[in-house]
Amino acid sequence: MKSNFDIKKLVRPNIAELQPYSSARDEYVGEANIFLDANENSLGSAVQGKFNRYPDPKQWELKEKLARIKKVKPSQIFFGNGSDEAIDLLYRAFCEPQKDSALIFPPTYGMYKVQANIHNSPVVEIPLNEDFSLPVEKIIQIINPAIKMMFICSPNNPTGNLIRKKDILTILDCFKGLVVVDEAYIDFSNADSMLSEIENYGNLVVLQTFSKAWGMAGLRLGMAFAQAETIEILNKIKYPYNINQVTQEYVIKALSNLPQKEDMVNTLLQQRKVLEEKLSELEIVEKIYPSDANFILVKTLNAPAIYNDLIKSGIIVRNRSNVNLCNNCLRITVGTASENEQLIEQLAKIGAGLFKNVTA
Ligand SMILES: *Cc1c(COP(=O)(O)O)cnc(C)c1O
Repeated sequence: MKSNFDIKKLVRPNIAELQPYSSARDEYVGEANIFLDANENSLGSAVQGKFNRYPDPKQWELKEKLARIKKVKPSQIFFGNGSDEAIDLLYRAFCEPQKDSALIFPPTYGMYKVQANIHNSPVVEIPLNEDFSLPVEKIIQIINPAIKMMFICSPNNPTGNLIRKKDILTILDCFKGLVVVDEAYIDFSNADSMLSEIENYGNLVVLQTFSKAWGMAGLRLGMAFAQAETIEILNKIKYPYNINQVTQEYVIKALSNLPQKEDMVNTLLQQRKVLEEKLSELEIVEKIYPSDANFILVKTLNAPAIYNDLIKSGIIVRNRSNVNLCNNCLRITVGTASENEQLIEQLAKIGAGLFKNVTA
């Protein structure tokens, strides 16, 4: 269905009226070979490599290549310095500080709340259901005009589960604000991305990232997809040259290595299965939550103790014990076969120690 959503009614008035900064490279169109417009250093760089020119502020080559892969239009793509930049800009564009709020569903990714706090926007929290599904009825009851957006993480971090598409569509139909679906882990799931719904819902924003399946966390590139009118608002308020040249070049290369990314995803999925099997044999493991991501949430007998013992042997996992609904849970990223073996070996040793103490 086609909604009659109008993004112009949602954006903050000062952003609607904002005259954005116009960079040298924004103002020049056409062919040139002498660039004396941006006060760059025409001699070169103080390091090997050519970095003396500002990068493309709108990253068009990258957007065109990605658009083909994702089956969207280049004008429906925004790139941020990590997904976190897109989250930040969404608050800045749509939430009046101290007035407009965002709705989040803990346990979930921490940045939604941190960015709200930085921006001084109130956060409304409704916990996920016991099975980590979306509390649809409660959401429908609570939504009001002061809530400008909500963040649905699917697959969710740290619980690992996918959120039912049917539930997200129900919310998209009822809610007049933005529904931001964070799909950082979607490549590890069999389910379809929500991207195909961008055309149908003006209030849908989908976030993805090059940090996980693509293995490029160090380059910092996050994606936001939405209808072009929404993307234009983000473009208007971003830093002019927010994506550096090295990142643009390397990600363009990566996009032509799609099979390599798919191979890595398949290997990690196999390893996830191995890890799940091995973990289930350990006495200290109480429950393994089903995962649609590259990590597994594991309920243990004593997460803080196990966490500390693992650190002593040089293995770091994430202790999520103090998180809502995640008592005694560790979040374990799927590693290489060898890393996973070493983890299991250490967990077995830790378990033997814990049980010795219990019986002694
Ligand atoms: C890792 C992760 C991201 C990615 O953030 P980047 O800034 O793109 O590295 C986004 N959302 C969630 C839920 C994540 O777990």
